[in-house]
Amino acid sequence: MTKPISKGDFDRYAVMAAEFSRDALLVTDIEDRVVWLNKGFETLTGFSMNEMLGRTPGEFLRGDLTETDAIQKIDDCITHRRPVDIEVQYRRKDNTAFWMESRITPIFAKDGSHTHFMSSSRDVTARRALEKSTREATENEQLRQQERRLLSQVSEWLYSAKSLEELLQVISKSLETLMPEAEGQLYIYSNSRDTLDLNIQWGGSGAATKHIEPDDCWALRRGRAYAYGMRPIEFPCGHSHAVEDDSPYFCVPITAHGQTNGLLHLNFGAFAPDRAQREKFKYFLDQRWELALLCAEQISLAIANVQLRQELLDQSVRDPLTNLWNRRWFLEAAHRQINSSRSAGTNCSVISIDVDHFKKFNDHHGHDAGDLVLRALGARMIEFFTTDASPCRLGGEEFIVLCANKTLEETCALADAFRQQVEALNVKYSGESLPKITISAGVAVWPEHAMHVADLVKAADVALYKAKAQGRNQVQAYEDTPA
Ligand code: GH3
Ligand code: MG
Ligand code: MG
Repeated sequence: MTKPISKGDFDRYAVMAAEFSRDALLVTDIEDRVVWLNKGFETLTGFSMNEMLGRTPGEFLRGDLTETDAIQKIDDCITHRRPVDIEVQYRRKDNTAFWMESRITPIFAKDGSHTHFMSSSRDVTARRALEKSTREATENEQLRQQERRLLSQVSEWLYSAKSLEELLQVISKSLETLMPEAEGQLYIYSNSRDTLDLNIQWGGSGAATKHIEPDDCWALRRGRAYAYGMRPIEFPCGHSHAVEDDSPYFCVPITAHGQTNGLLHLNFGAFAPDRAQREKFKYFLDQRWELALLCAEQISLAIANVQLRQELLDQSVRDPLTNLWNRRWFLEAAHRQINSSRSAGTNCSVISIDVDHFKKFNDHHGHDAGDLVLRALGARMIEFFTTDASPCRLGGEEFIVLCANKTLEETCALADAFRQQVEALNVKYSGESLPKITISAGVAVWPEHAMHVADLVKAADVALYKAKAQGRNQVQAYEDTPA
């Protein structure tokens, strides 16, 4: 039968176990001064028994990151003489920091008096680092999920925008929410495509560059997104703040169907630290980079969508030969104009225009030459009629101009000035100047001559016939009792 070990053997083994344990064991007296430590403690901290004897461990071992909560627990253990479990940051003899998980237990003599404390500790630095990185990864994943949810909401909004103005509002609000630390701008190519114009900005002082030359931007020159501020050798774009303050930024081209339509610019100057500390923010900026690319992709498609919608809408209200507004646009605009003139208590008027003897012109010079003249006439109308006068082609060689805030006399004067412009129009066909054309025009005013659009147009036509009847190349006003 196996015999239990004797009391004497047990005491001996217990001493050996304490001596050779890999855990760091430390005994202090009731004033917390070291009286004994084991090999494990020496290995872990680098301090020998001689160096520690009589010293208070907390005073010189404790690291800066130990939480006040743990210090409070140690004080509690000393004051109330009860065991505590804590995690403490310590410094080794070589001053390197590490984390220990410790149990401190008060030790009592046979008579019940408190004589010592014993702490048993092990290194938990690696475990803590793992916990920290797991926690960070979880937090990051939660953040990513939140961003993805926001992004899918954003893309829904982007696709619901009906006009560019609406879309720009959605873009600025969305990016401000998704990347609150970045100030941003969206530039769109001008019609002439030689510069990009600032269309909207958010999150900053508002002091953004208004126009960008494509050559001033590395992203536009190289045809791909560009991040500045993270690499040892790199060059700021000419249009960016970074030329002066070296702040990190992204330039992301907005492209659709193989064409670049604009540029998304995101600047982290107000948020990112100077270059020396920037390495710490690399992870953050890398995340932002991914998000910026995703956003730019959504914005690109949404802009192309809105532009297509706008083009279709435009095509449905424009005359393809002259690029003037068409009859459909005129009828809607005239209704709107009458309503707003009624509210404002002002006049509005129309000029009905018809080319003189145009059938003869076509017969002599051919339909193509006739088309060229109509196109030149349209171009001159667009140049001549500016604010408050919208020229439209109703069909054939018949035009109408919708005027706001003009009396009968003012409208007649405007029509006659245009008639004179037409007399001076020089149209070349196959290198030869075509004969001059003339126009006749009739003017009618709301509300004096008619209350409704159709009647107003009829009244202007009556005046136009009068101009034709009286010899053409002239302007006539509608009269209630026409000749
Ligand atoms: P009037 O001075 O009385 O207006 O004489 P007109 O010959 O201009 O009058 P009419 O309305 O009889 O003829 C209009 C002509 O305009 C008929 C057609 O030859 C021409 N025309 C109409 N639409 C077009 C077009 O789109 N292109 C060309 N080239 N000619 C057109
Ligand atoms: Mg006609
Ligand atoms: Mg005619």
